[in-house]
Amino acid sequence: QAPRGTRRETQDPTLDTHPLDAMSFSVTLFSHQKYDNNFLVPALKEHCGEAHVKSIPVGLTNDTVELAGNSQAVCLFVNDVADKEVLTKLSAQGCKLILLRNAGFNNVDLEAAGELNISVRRVPAYSPYAVAEMAVALLLAVVRKIPKAYNRVREHNFSISGLEGFDIRGKKIGILGTGNIGKITAEILKGFGPSRLMGHDAFPSEECKAMGMEYVSLEELCRESDIISIHVPLFPSTYHIIGVETLKLMKPNVIIINTSRGGLVDAEALVDALKQNRIGGLAMDVYEHESSFFFHDCSDQVFGDDILSRLLSFHNVIITAHQAFLTKEALEQISLTTVQNIKDFKEGKESRNEVKSIKKVDAPAK
Ligand code: NAD
Repeated sequence: QAPRGTRRETQDPTLDTHPLDAMSFSVTLFSHQKYDNNFLVPALKEHCGEAHVKSIPVGLTNDTVELAGNSQAVCLFVNDVADKEVLTKLSAQGCKLILLRNAGFNNVDLEAAGELNISVRRVPAYSPYAVAEMAVALLLAVVRKIPKAYNRVREHNFSISGLEGFDIRGKKIGILGTGNIGKITAEILKGFGPSRLMGHDAFPSEECKAMGMEYVSLEELCRESDIISIHVPLFPSTYHIIGVETLKLMKPNVIIINTSRGGLVDAEALVDALKQNRIGGLAMDVYEHESSFFFHDCSDQVFGDDILSRLLSFHNVIITAHQAFLTKEALEQISLTTVQNIKDFKEGKESRNEVKSIKKVDAPAK
């Protein structure tokens, strides 16, 4: 309890008024999860003051935007919706800063944010190792049928019939997107001794070439790979990059791992290919319609997504609910960068973490 007469006592705990001193900064954190209490919430409270941080378990949508009150910043996660309508309301409420606690920004209308003079700052890299290691964990789980084996043994069924996998050594691996995460995934997978390590990227990386990666077209990567791991971001140009046509090119036993974004893969096309036995195994940490379900306990509800239900019904499919980032190291880094993003904003500093619509980026001086 703060003693009488201290600053805390004089602040408005509801946050629905502007903070009293110029240095304080109010933040509403949407899509709050328990794990946010480990690093992010304490870090924000330490920086902004206890009374200036509000955590809300629901996601940001047009229906929930008013919950931000007149916070100067909102802190968002992957499935929060910051489209033009929502941003316009946030701006009218006094919001000046969107703090993304993740790298991707496909859920924010950057053009609208620019027009409304709302700065959008993200955490571009928190732990690429967390996501790369999860991609490899999913690969091994699907290839060696670990979830099935685990469930059998828990029921005292010690039969190993039907659990045959294959060696990753000697297989052809394709990495789609060789940025931060794709490069580390390739580095780890190289340790397995693949016969060919292929990459496809709009900007091939010298580091990847130095580790022996061959850059190939998307079509060749799809045609040749035994294992494909997806690490491109979700842009209009990459939406459904794996879809009916690219799936047709793939080997019938291909293993597909998606830890990037759901919209990169056409889920209905996956269902069709799986039904026709044209996919050896699939593991995904993301799903194109995940926003209504992921991060929530829906176990007591009638589940209404037929595509996800169908995907879950295949014996060779593993789905996790967008947890690839979820390591202690990543959470710590997310909190440090988010606080730094607030500091930079308050001091009016340019930041590499700021994302702008290409249309809004100032033209270079002639
Ligand atoms: P990055 O920007 O370092 O790398 C992305 C790479 O994709 C770049 O090399 C870029 O050149 C390439 N690329 C972009 N568009 C392309 C196109 N049309 N064709 C070919 N290549 C293209 O990003 P990163 O840090 O490696 O992260 C990759 C993605 O992983 C993020 O965008 C995010 O969606 C996802 N991610 C998921 C989680 C999770 O928890 N599941 C966590 C973090 C990031």
